[in-house]
Amino acid sequence: MATLTDLTIAEARDLLDKREVAARELTEAHIAAVEAARPLNAFITETPERALEMAAASDERRARSSAEDLGVMEGIPIAIKDLFCTEGVLTTAGSHILDGFHPPYESTVSANLWRAGAVMLGKTNLDEFAMGSSNMTSYYGGVENPWRAASGDNRPLVPGGSSGGSAAAVAARAVMGATGTDTGGSIRQPAAFTGIVGMKPTYGRCSRWGIVAFASSLDQAGPMTRDVRDAAIMLRAMAGHDPKDSTSVDRPVPDYEAALTGDVRGLRIGVPEQYRVDGMPGEIEALWTQGIEWLKAAGAEPVEISLPHTKYALPTYYIVAPAEASSNLARYDGVRYGLREPSGELDEMYEATRGEGFGAEVKRRVLIGTYVLSAGYYDAYYNKARRVRSLILRDFTEAFETVDAILTPTAPSAAFAMGEKMDDPIAMYLNDVFTVPASLAGLPAISVPAGLSEEGLPLGLHVIGKAFDEEMVLRVAGVLEEAADFTTEPTFIAGRETGS
Ligand code: GLN
Repeated sequence: MATLTDLTIAEARDLLDKREVAARELTEAHIAAVEAARPLNAFITETPERALEMAAASDERRARSSAEDLGVMEGIPIAIKDLFCTEGVLTTAGSHILDGFHPPYESTVSANLWRAGAVMLGKTNLDEFAMGSSNMTSYYGGVENPWRAASGDNRPLVPGGSSGGSAAAVAARAVMGATGTDTGGSIRQPAAFTGIVGMKPTYGRCSRWGIVAFASSLDQAGPMTRDVRDAAIMLRAMAGHDPKDSTSVDRPVPDYEAALTGDVRGLRIGVPEQYRVDGMPGEIEALWTQGIEWLKAAGAEPVEISLPHTKYALPTYYIVAPAEASSNLARYDGVRYGLREPSGELDEMYEATRGEGFGAEVKRRVLIGTYVLSAGYYDAYYNKARRVRSLILRDFTEAFETVDAILTPTAPSAAFAMGEKMDDPIAMYLNDVFTVPASLAGLPAISVPAGLSEEGLPLGLHVIGKAFDEEMVLRVAGVLEEAADFTTEPTFIAGRETGS
């Protein structure tokens, strides 16, 4: 039998169903892998005792029930981004200000996963309040990408962000899957940087209840897994209507795995000209062209499309997201949660707590957000951004009248070195040029590992679909995955296996 940590969720499910492996064994192997991966700093909290209890309960359920009665994630060990509240387990959002916060409730998405039988290995590291593209803004330190460049200076690289801990843990095979959240690209960009699959479903598909809010009109939870089938399995467990989130949508959750037919014949795949951005590296352009060719060879028809407002997406995002963040983060005042810096009068205590508790990037966003929402500038910035946001959505709606899905690169580069771009917020923000438009439009999108850069680092292709057409996104992604045949292992894994 293959090493247990090399199995995909689908493979493990089959072995569990055949009683060839127990959830306990699978969990023990992953607890050891989480420990071995500690140099990557992918976890803020490890929960091995809880994992063993959950695995034992899963084995018991399996002994009592037939396979059809079990949940779709029965016995599968996963990690949860530390932005999801987990009952009784430290939840930090990567911030000092949530020191010691043990939520008295469980987020709906994680509760759905536990109900489906999944086993929790721990809480993964992230950019503070999910603000970032490198995982370097975490109070708990940066996460290292399990990949290293095959050529060049061999510096440690970022796993992307903000779901960088989840991405690194999945890529390093410490966990079989992990939850992420995506506000402007935080599932898809780290998936691309670490050679895994990351999917942001349609806004409203997964409940936001119990997820620490960053920008409420954009935040969406989604799965991060090693392949497309696993994303389909995990999304099915995560998704669903939740009366506690008024923006969650009451629609039945399909069996996403059934959408992986491998057949894209006759589909029309949009290729948006505006995504050929200035200065796009040749290898990204080449990967994109390759992706188009793969789909064509499988019988789909590439169609040039225009999304004319694409160039306004990033500036629009950096008004809307900070505006919502400044309002959402007002609750961290030293009174109700986590950190309190005792100091003189009440106002001084607020100031001291927020001054001490928030990192530089979070403060930058709160300042920008407060500015664009201030009485004198509200119309010029916030209302304008909202109007441009509707134009961006309209571009997509019009494009989807003639195409079934849209193909773009996920990110404009491969993973960069830890510490790079930290003094240049705009360069950091530019990482999300290809992911932010779908976020503003609330559309489902996935990143699939599709090739290697000249330096031997993973690159992703990005498929965007119509609202609530996750099935189409998964179907197209499955065909790309098959054609790309991406089997290279991260340096961290390869190194471990050869004992170096
Ligand atoms: N990198 C983007 C930002 O910093 C997106 C983050 C996210 O999707 N959570 O806002």
